[in-house]
Amino acid sequence: MTLLKVEGIEAGYGQSQALFGVDLDVAEGEVVALMGRNGMGKTTTIRAICNLTPPFGGAVHFAGRSLKGMAPHRVAKLGIGLVPEGRRCFAALTVEENLIATARPGKWEFATVTQLFPRLAERRNQMANTLSGGEQQMLAVGRALMTNPKLLILDEATEGLAPVIRNDIWASIRKLKAEGEAILIVDKTLPELLPLADRCTVLENGMTVWTGKPGELTGDLQDRYLGV
Ligand code: ATP
Repeated sequence: MTLLKVEGIEAGYGQSQALFGVDLDVAEGEVVALMGRNGMGKTTTIRAICNLTPPFGGAVHFAGRSLKGMAPHRVAKLGIGLVPEGRRCFAALTVEENLIATARPGKWEFATVTQLFPRLAERRNQMANTLSGGEQQMLAVGRALMTNPKLLILDEATEGLAPVIRNDIWASIRKLKAEGEAILIVDKTLPELLPLADRCTVLENGMTVWTGKPGELTGDLQDRYLGV
């Protein structure tokens, strides 16, 4: 069943339009990769879905409801767990406080999140701003999970991290997929991303230009839409 349906959304920043018609959908239990070169509109699409940058055209439906005009905290409450670019943990709270701050009842609780990220259990009483970048990223994912979302959105969750930590994060994302979580993911590491994705949606200049299975994203298409 379709969980998220984005139809022809248009959005931008002040006078500057960034999205000119983005179509995208995610079904329950599906992992969809949102792809495209730098500046093509991936983050803006995510912000538009969450109403952080409200779209002025098109429509977003989630779990059968229109998100038009809904405040971002209500979108979150409806079941969209966002891990934004740049992590944004609560710096002056401990790891445990960060996790508990967003908790809502469900299978993801302190015990299950720290099973997924054992380092968070080790750092339980440490302030978030004393964690390494990778640990903060784990905390950001953990915090989104603690809301027990129906859809997890990951925006560049592995960017700028040391290879060992990246591998840990990818392993955790694979576990989340195996557990049937629906995920919308933006990431530039294609060798990790493509095997994980059930479907890919490619943006160019703020428009959806291609959707299909990762195996159909041929070298030619990758050169055309993702090459630098
Ligand atoms: P990247 O891979 O570099 O993160 P992206 O595909 O996520 O890129 P967006 O960040 O959504 O792309 O940017 C889409 C367009 O919107 C770009 O032209 C960008 O310059 C512009 N843009 C993004 N954020 C802002 C902002 N805060 N104010 C004005 N323009 C912005």
